[in-house]
Amino acid sequence: MNNYNPKKLEKFVADIFLHSGSNERESKIVGDHLVDSNLVGHDSHGVIRVSKYIEWLNQDKIKLNQSINILKEEDHFLHIDGNFGYGQPIAKYSLDIAIKKAKEKGHCILAMKNLGHIGRVGAWSELAATNDCVSIMFVNTSGFGILMAPHGGTDRRLSANPIAIGIPMKNSDYLVLDMATSVVAEGKIQVAKNTKKKLADGLILDGYGNPTNDPEVFYSKPVGSILPFGGHKGFGLAFMIDILSGTLTGGNSSHPDNPNSHAVINNTFAIIIDTKKTVSDSYFQKDINRLINWVKASPKAKGVEEILLPGEVEKNIKKQRLSKGIPLDDQTIKDLIDTANFVGMKNVDENFMKGLLA
Ligand code: NAD
Repeated sequence: MNNYNPKKLEKFVADIFLHSGSNERESKIVGDHLVDSNLVGHDSHGVIRVSKYIEWLNQDKIKLNQSINILKEEDHFLHIDGNFGYGQPIAKYSLDIAIKKAKEKGHCILAMKNLGHIGRVGAWSELAATNDCVSIMFVNTSGFGILMAPHGGTDRRLSANPIAIGIPMKNSDYLVLDMATSVVAEGKIQVAKNTKKKLADGLILDGYGNPTNDPEVFYSKPVGSILPFGGHKGFGLAFMIDILSGTLTGGNSSHPDNPNSHAVINNTFAIIIDTKKTVSDSYFQKDINRLINWVKASPKAKGVEEILLPGEVEKNIKKQRLSKGIPLDDQTIKDLIDTANFVGMKNVDENFMKGLLA
């Protein structure tokens, strides 16, 4: 495991997308988003995805350089069709409009269908929060992303259906809860597979419905499934998120009769609220700080150094990785080299990768 320089990695990853046909905007937004996911510690949603994205592109599961199609626009409502383009540029473009509307009108409901993988959902809540907006985001993967068993079930029926909630704080700081409703995000099973580690108990079932710790088993035939977090409660939340993000946007819930089941689709239903339209800024910040202080003052359980708030782990890891670099395993580096060569980049080998070290 070596540590890589985030800026050099961003440029390299953007170059891969550029060589695969993405325009400069798309290459930069997708590349920056993936490297930022590594920076905040979500390696499952970082550059490990580059080879997957290029594979999806070549399988026509995702389309290059799509612009958004506005299906309906009102003062408080925006309905977008992403035309199966890369999710990050479509999400950025749509959120920029929704945030502007929220700041003018108080709130905006954003419904997006048929956009590719939007990656780490918390990144989009961070975007809203740094623009002084609260955000609530629900996402499903109604294409071929069905991974999760229902509570009491034994095979894949729902997607990992993440939810993110972002709260703006002073000086561009924020609180962001960002989580899959599956007990673990699928990318983390991929990371465990790459690094040949066993998974903790209670995360996945094998293809026959038996509990297992082996990430290899999850991907072999018959494929395994991920359990919902928190038993029936996590399942209930995941089920409702599928309806909000899938059905309500028109992008389909996670069932096999989806006509677009060949594609990678993250349908998203989001509510963006400008805090200043409901309460005064001073009250908002003061009340949140009172809550933070109250919660953090709880006597700590044995072995716990600090009570952490939503998004705090990510902020701490980002500070570390910005100074020490991003650790990447050998398999991810090999996949990056192979993908760079596949899209026609010259002279990318292990030696070239050494030039990207922190
Ligand atoms: P996670 O379990 O690592 O973290 C979930 C939340 O818990 C975060 O807000 C984090 O800040 C908080 N947290 C973590 N440790 C904590 C602690 N000790 N104390 C207090 N709070 C703590 O996240 P996850 O569910 O594995 O999801 C990982 C990523 O996968 C997310 O970024 C999510 O958006 C992404 N994802 C994306 C898709 C998609 O289709 N685009 C699908 C599933 C997941």
